Amino acid sequence: MKIFEAINEATKILSSSTTPLLDAQLLLESVLKKNRIYIYMSRDRELTDCEIEKFFDLLERRKKGEPISYILGYKEFMSLNFKVEKGVLIPRPDTEILVEEVLKNLKDKKNPILVDVGCGSGAISISIAKYKEDALVYSLDIMDVPLKVTKENAIINDVEDRVHVIKSDILKSLDKTLYGEVDVIVSNPPYIKGDVIPTLMKDVKDYEPYEALYGGEDGLYFYRNITREALPYLKSGGFIAYEIGYDQGFEVQNILKENGFYDVCCIRDLAGLDRVVLGWRR
Ligand code: GLN
Repeated sequence: MKIFEAINEATKILSSSTTPLLDAQLLLESVLKKNRIYIYMSRDRELTDCEIEKFFDLLERRKKGEPISYILGYKEFMSLNFKVEKGVLIPRPDTEILVEEVLKNLKDKKNPILVDVGCGSGAISISIAKYKEDALVYSLDIMDVPLKVTKENAIINDVEDRVHVIKSDILKSLDKTLYGEVDVIVSNPPYIKGDVIPTLMKDVKDYEPYEALYGGEDGLYFYRNITREALPYLKSGGFIAYEIGYDQGFEVQNILKENGFYDVCCIRDLAGLDRVVLGWRR
C-alpha cells in the first residue's frame, strides 16, 4: 500500500471525525516520524507491513473516539509543545486567551508570583513561565497524573527551576508564608454543570478526566471556592484570572464583586463569547 492509498483509506475509516484528512495525516506522520511535507512529497512510497499495522491500530483508536492528542501524546499550546496523556485535560486554544490576558497584565511587573489552580498538563503555568521570564509559578492540582505531567512539561519546556508543582485541594496546601505575596491567581477550573456532562462530545466525555470537567451542579463550585481561598494569598493590587464557560460571565463576575474585587471585567473569545473574567484585590 502506498502513502496516498493509506491516506485515502484512512479518511474513509475516520469519516465520522470532523477532520478525517487532518487526523489521518497526523497519525501517519507519527507512525513514520516524518512531517507533512514528507507525506505530500512521498505519496507513491510503499509502506512496510509494520508501518501499515501501526497506522491502522492508531486509526482504530481514533475511530472509537479517542482524542487525537492522546493518541499522538502531545498537544501544541501557545506555540509550545506539551506532553498529554489520559488523566489530564487536553489544552484548548480558547485557554490561550486566558494566558494572553495574564501576560498582558503582568507586562510591567517585576518578578511576579503566580499560582495556577488545577494545573492539568501545566499548559497555563508553563506558558506563562516561558513568556514572562522573571515569573515564579506555583502549579497546584489535586490529582496525581496532572502533577506528574506538569513536572514533565516544565522540563520539556525548560522552566522547571521556576515552576513548583504542589499537590493541593484548591489552595489548601499552598504555603501560608505566601499570604499577601501572590500577584496572580489563575485558573481554568472544571466548570461544566452536572446536567450538561452527558451532552458533551463522546471524545471528551469518554476520554477526558471527569474531575477536570465537572464544576458542581451549577458549574460554579470552583469559582466560589478558589475566590474565597485566594483572598489571603493575593497582594493588594494582585488579580484573579479565570477561564469561564460562555454562559457564566455574569455569575463569575458577581462572585468576584461579592468578595470585594474591583475593576471586574469579562473578555470575549474570537467567537465573541464570554471566555475570561478578571478582577483585582483591594
Ligand atoms: N489548567 C489546565 C488547562 O487549562 C487544566 C484545566 C482543567 O483540568 N480543568 O488545560
